Amino acid sequence: MNNMQTNTVHGALKWASSFLQKHNCESKVAEILLLHILDWSKTDMLIYLQEPIASEKLAYFQQKIEQHAETKIPVQHLTGVEDFYGRTFHVNQHVLIPRPETEELVQCVTEAVDKSDFTCVDIGTGSGIIAVCLAKEWESRQVEMLATDLSDDALRVAEKNAEKHQAKINFYQGNFLAPLINEGKKVDIIVSNPPYISYEEADSLSETVKHYDPEMALFAENNGLAAYYEIIHQADQVLNRHGMLFFEIGHTQAEAVSKLIKQQFPESKVTALQDINGQDRIVRVIL
Ligand code: GLN
Repeated sequence: MNNMQTNTVHGALKWASSFLQKHNCESKVAEILLLHILDWSKTDMLIYLQEPIASEKLAYFQQKIEQHAETKIPVQHLTGVEDFYGRTFHVNQHVLIPRPETEELVQCVTEAVDKSDFTCVDIGTGSGIIAVCLAKEWESRQVEMLATDLSDDALRVAEKNAEKHQAKINFYQGNFLAPLINEGKKVDIIVSNPPYISYEEADSLSETVKHYDPEMALFAENNGLAAYYEIIHQADQVLNRHGMLFFEIGHTQAEAVSKLIKQQFPESKVTALQDINGQDRIVRVIL
């Protein structure tokens, strides 16, 4: 291995960290990848830091580190997994890699919903993280969990994650709420982290996001508001009385999204919630 002093865990990490830094990549990728390849926990790593690594694993590690540095492929696409809300999820190029901000959306929904018997839909489920986490949180209640996505490939990933976590979810292929409208299905709660980045903002995204997250998961027309607009309009046909709606939003979109909601649901109570950095991140609507 290039310039690697030893074949120990410590030596491999040291080599990879400096290699990544030289290529303007985050050095934490080294640890994530090595833990994955060795199938170890962080504690294992601390205990066995001075142990040698089998040569084929070491070679594989080196190859992946070099691939990451060269192509900027997200480490999650190399490992095929990402952690979210205390669970590990399968991911691939067909789904948005789960973002930590979305954990706040899940948390907000679980805090706001105290019903015991209801139907909830996660729109644009992607890898299924929101639907799976909510289904697990509400396991002891009478909850019917639904999830939709336009992409069949994404639904396959979401189904795999639902199976992995034994979450009972009914999946529908289609545009936002269209498949539920077609079936005349009503729900009490709508949750969504829709695409909300405007095409004008595309240039400010990192190469990794631009090249590896699916375009349909990121961008929306109309200043990033098109998906909200469509969902809010469809919601009128789907939401039961006293229903609730939760959106993740871009931090400049609270006012515009709230306005769209008020136009469709004038009586509703709309609240923008901030993330830990004090930026608007979630819009909560109570009908
Ligand atoms: N619901 C998924 C997530 O929050 C996918 C969202 C999307 O593709 N915009 O990660």
